[in-house]
Amino acid sequence: MRCFCCSSLSFEQCCKPFIDGIKVPDSAEQLMRSRFSAYAVHNYDYVLNTYSNDKQQGLSAQQLKDSADGANWFALTIHRPSKKQQNDDTVEFTAFYFENKNVFQLHETSLFIKENGVWRYHDGTLHDDCGKVKYGRNLPCLCASNKKFKQCCALKAR
Ligand SMILES: [Zn+2]
Ligand SMILES: [Zn+2]
Repeated sequence: MRCFCCSSLSFEQCCKPFIDGIKVPDSAEQLMRSRFSAYAVHNYDYVLNTYSNDKQQGLSAQQLKDSADGANWFALTIHRPSKKQQNDDTVEFTAFYFENKNVFQLHETSLFIKENGVWRYHDGTLHDDCGKVKYGRNLPCLCASNKKFKQCCALKAR
């Protein structure tokens, strides 16, 4: 199965080892991708644990679950890859999800920082085009599968 983060790798070769705690992401982009995949598999402990120390204060996995569980995340596009900076880095992306069978997008520029040598998500700035999108059923799927949307992720709409 192709990874949830829409890379060309399988889940096992891409985000799963990070989510399982077997490997540590060595770039902000890898961490960003693995957090998206964690949302896709509803692993909110991983999402929580990859926030910066500051942001983890007052957050719980249950809160993350409550705010995200209605969304069915299905595709990710990275617009501006990280610059592979040493101590902090930004990644601009759009994440797509279904809610009540409608397509929504979250377009964000995220800030990642390194704490004790490990990348963490600190915060993000949302762009103006977040929200519901009309996406044509005959267009190429947002997950970059080279299939039409109606023959690919649209089948997962719920
Ligand atoms: Zn991945
Ligand atoms: Zn698709």
